[in-house]
Amino acid sequence: MEAKINQALALLKQALQEHGDRLVYPCSMGIEGSVMVDLICRHGLNIPVMTLDTGRLPQATYDVIAAFEKRYGIRVAVTFPDSHEVEAMVREHGVNLFRKSVALRKHCCEIRKVHPLMRALQGKSAWLTGRRHEQSKGRAGLQEVETDPVYNLKKYNPLLNWSMDEVLEYIRTYDVPYNILHDAHYHSIGCECCTRAITVGEDERAGRWWWENDDVAAECGLHVMSIKQVTGKIENGEGI
Ligand code: SF4
Repeated sequence: MEAKINQALALLKQALQEHGDRLVYPCSMGIEGSVMVDLICRHGLNIPVMTLDTGRLPQATYDVIAAFEKRYGIRVAVTFPDSHEVEAMVREHGVNLFRKSVALRKHCCEIRKVHPLMRALQGKSAWLTGRRHEQSKGRAGLQEVETDPVYNLKKYNPLLNWSMDEVLEYIRTYDVPYNILHDAHYHSIGCECCTRAITVGEDERAGRWWWENDDVAAECGLHVMSIKQVTGKIENGEGI
C-alpha cells in the first residue's frame, strides 16, 4: 500500500510541477475520487477539484461533495450544463431520451457532461483521472500519462495500478469520506438513472448504461478516445 501511495503521489507531484495552475482534477465523486481528493488535500497539493453536476446525480453524490468540502476545507468547483442546451434536448427528445437509443444516450452525455467539461478545461493543459486498469476491459491497457487528442491535454492516471481492495484499504485507513452507494454494490457511479449495482463477476463498470451492450465497457465520451487508442474498439460512448 505504501508503495502504491508513493507512486501515486509522485505522479501527482510530477503533474503539478509540469502544469502548475493549468492542472485540474475533474472528480467523478466515486470511490477512486475519494482517494484522489484525499491524496491531493492531505499532501497540500495545490490542485483544484471540480465536478460535473449533470442535473441527474444521486443525492449520495451531493452528500460526498459536501463531505469533502467539510473535511478538507475546500470548495469543489461544480460545473453545470448549459440550461438552454438541456431545455432544447428535453423538449425535442423527452426527459428519458437516454433509454430510447444509444445515439440519444450519447447526445445526453454530450450535453450534460462533455460540453460542460470542455468549458471547465478551457485554459488548462492537463487533467487528472482516478481510472484504474481493473475497472473494465477497455481500461486495462491505459498508460499513466497520456495525451488526449479530443481535449488536446495531458492526462495523468495516478491510480492506474490500484486494485479495488487497495482503494478500499486506503479509504478505511485514512477514514476518507466516500459515496455510500458503494456500500450497495455500485462500483462506478454516474447519473442516478444510468447507474445500477453490479453482481459478482461483472466488470466494475457494468452498472453503467447496462441496457446497451454487455460486451463493451461503455464510456460517456469524457475518456473515450484514449480507450479507443488502446483497444482499437469502438466504445459505446464514442463519437460524443
Ligand atoms: S449518464 Fe445518463 S443521464 Fe447522465 S448524461 Fe449520460 S445519458 Fe444523460
